[in-house]
Amino acid sequence: MLKNDTVYYPQDEMTTVLLPVTLGCSYNKCAFCSMYKDDKYCEVASSDIEMQLINGYVYTEKVFLTGAEPLSIGFDKMKKLLDMIHKYLPYCACVASYASIKNIVKYTIEELSILHDAGLRLLYIGFETGRDDILKLMNKGHSVKEAVKQAKKLNEAKIQFNSILMYGIAGEGESIDNAVLTANMINQFKTKKVITMNLTIFDGTKLNNMVEKGDFIPPSRNERLVEIRTLLENLEPKQPMIFDTTHPTNIIKLKGTLPQDKDRLINEIANYIKVKPD
Ligand code: SF4
Repeated sequence: MLKNDTVYYPQDEMTTVLLPVTLGCSYNKCAFCSMYKDDKYCEVASSDIEMQLINGYVYTEKVFLTGAEPLSIGFDKMKKLLDMIHKYLPYCACVASYASIKNIVKYTIEELSILHDAGLRLLYIGFETGRDDILKLMNKGHSVKEAVKQAKKLNEAKIQFNSILMYGIAGEGESIDNAVLTANMINQFKTKKVITMNLTIFDGTKLNNMVEKGDFIPPSRNERLVEIRTLLENLEPKQPMIFDTTHPTNIIKLKGTLPQDKDRLINEIANYIKVKPD
């Protein structure tokens, strides 16, 4: 069975209508990622997408485009796709998708604004960390400066996005510094939500090789909890921002809106660190 049979989507989109746009990942080089390791990247044919839309429920209100990074299809195809969605699903008010910094680079602010007006309303972006050395170590393919620049472009084009961060990613002894610099990065733009993931070492990844060779030591559970607390302490959003650690990989489930819930969330973690150390 091809791994392409596995469809990944955010837990917030569990009840959203899924529309396959790409299969596999056009980059496929992040050291920690095993999702599409054995899959060949390809685009779903426009005729196949149209067939799905023709057979869709006409009153659908939200669509999630599946694939690691549907924006890799480029502006013209994305615009046609959004127009097609509008034609067959006229009540759809929000098209959401994963996106990578590397692909947003290819779009101008004007093009992003056009896509926003055509229905693209929410992106999920893997920022992972605000440290350039760790982005490089994980072969993420973008720098912090580039990430901030692209995030600001989205702000200008009024496309909302959720920022996915990965605690534990900097390794043992580096978590506090990672949290401070990651918060500094997030503080430079407006994001609807920060979604945290907990670093997981998957078989067959470059990161797993690094761990086996002793080149990367994952931080302890307690260090990771301190990292989440430090991140929260340093986040100063320009507008209300949801902080969400409820993805299944997380070691603690927290959800609230910053800045008003900041103290509550920090206190919840503080208790956890004290009661359940490693
Ligand atoms: S993390 Fe995203 S961009 Fe990186 S290899 Fe995995 S799917 Fe591709």
